[in-house]
Amino acid sequence: MKRTGWFWFLLLFAAIAAIVGVSFFYESTPSGTDIIKVDNFLLGTLVEIKAWDQTLDEEAVRASIQSAFDAMRRVESEMSVNMKGSIVHQINDSAGISKVGATSSVIAVLDIAERVSELSGGAFDVRIGAVSHLWDFTSQKAARPPDPKAIAKAVRLITLASVEFSATTGTVYLPVKGMRLDLGGIAKGYAIDVASKALRKAGLGNFIVDAGGDMFVAGTRPNGRKWRIGVRHPRRLGDLMCTLLLSDRAVVTSGDYERFFVYEGRRYHHILDPATGYPATGCQSVTVIAKEATTADALATAIFVMGPERGLKLADRLQDVECLIVGADGARILSRGFGQYLPAVMAVSP
Ligand code: ADP
Ligand code: MG
Repeated sequence: MKRTGWFWFLLLFAAIAAIVGVSFFYESTPSGTDIIKVDNFLLGTLVEIKAWDQTLDEEAVRASIQSAFDAMRRVESEMSVNMKGSIVHQINDSAGISKVGATSSVIAVLDIAERVSELSGGAFDVRIGAVSHLWDFTSQKAARPPDPKAIAKAVRLITLASVEFSATTGTVYLPVKGMRLDLGGIAKGYAIDVASKALRKAGLGNFIVDAGGDMFVAGTRPNGRKWRIGVRHPRRLGDLMCTLLLSDRAVVTSGDYERFFVYEGRRYHHILDPATGYPATGCQSVTVIAKEATTADALATAIFVMGPERGLKLADRLQDVECLIVGADGARILSRGFGQYLPAVMAVSP
């Protein structure tokens, strides 16, 4: 190689070394900031908690994560519709008969559910249980829609009477026989918030509580940057629709692609319109970002049922609530402030 050849070769080498060095500096993290990750199956999904903290040792972080899982399990054992002995199960069994003693968690969830129900004009309604228990979205192959007469009868039961609950007496009562609570559209969000509070109480400030894609994201990654969260594409399995940059926010998605069956060429999924008793038809998915997972969870279900037009109006009038709606035709609709969570170089993919 001639001398000028060597010069250019060395210059190129130095440039590559500099680029590699700079990117390493950017992505490298100080020692003692490993992310600890623990998985557990609960609430019908895989829940993953990730956390890191510079001031706590690994054992302490693991103990805190464990306490967060314990708290989530308590929520599940109180609010599951299917678990025999759960408080919700007892409330449903006692419909039209007697009041049931409930925990402050159940009362708190009913209170938020009632608020979201009012905000959404009844699109979100935990009394949906009267209808939802007729449907089976678990066995994709054998499933078929329930008898239309049974659906019509159950729909009438939904709005027949209010859920009676009181924080002072700590009781819940369904006044009409056949009424049923289903907290499936909100309990997971509440469990995520409860876990997040347990982690914060243990002194952790940087974590993700991820319940099958619904999550609360706290603090930052070890490199000081916001957490990156992928939002799934409702039709292209395994693909992401966009990536969000988040800190101290809940992000929850309701979609028609998770629990559904196809019968005579039609897709039937688990988000039901209380007005008809059938799956809501306006959206493919709704992703809500809010300060708490409980409200984000209920709102995602509510906006899904309301459909893009009314759903967007609701999100735009609520503070600290943003949403990304994918309409039934695949069109993407973003609430006014949603863009703040998208990285500058990225957009929502078609
Ligand atoms: P996921 O359970 O996949 O997180 P959602 O948060 O959208 O999804 O909740 C769907 C669940 O909410 C259903 O399985 C059912 O238990 C309940 N649900 C369905 N329709 C409604 C509704 N209109 N209002 C309140 N809860 C609902
Ligand atoms: Mg929900």
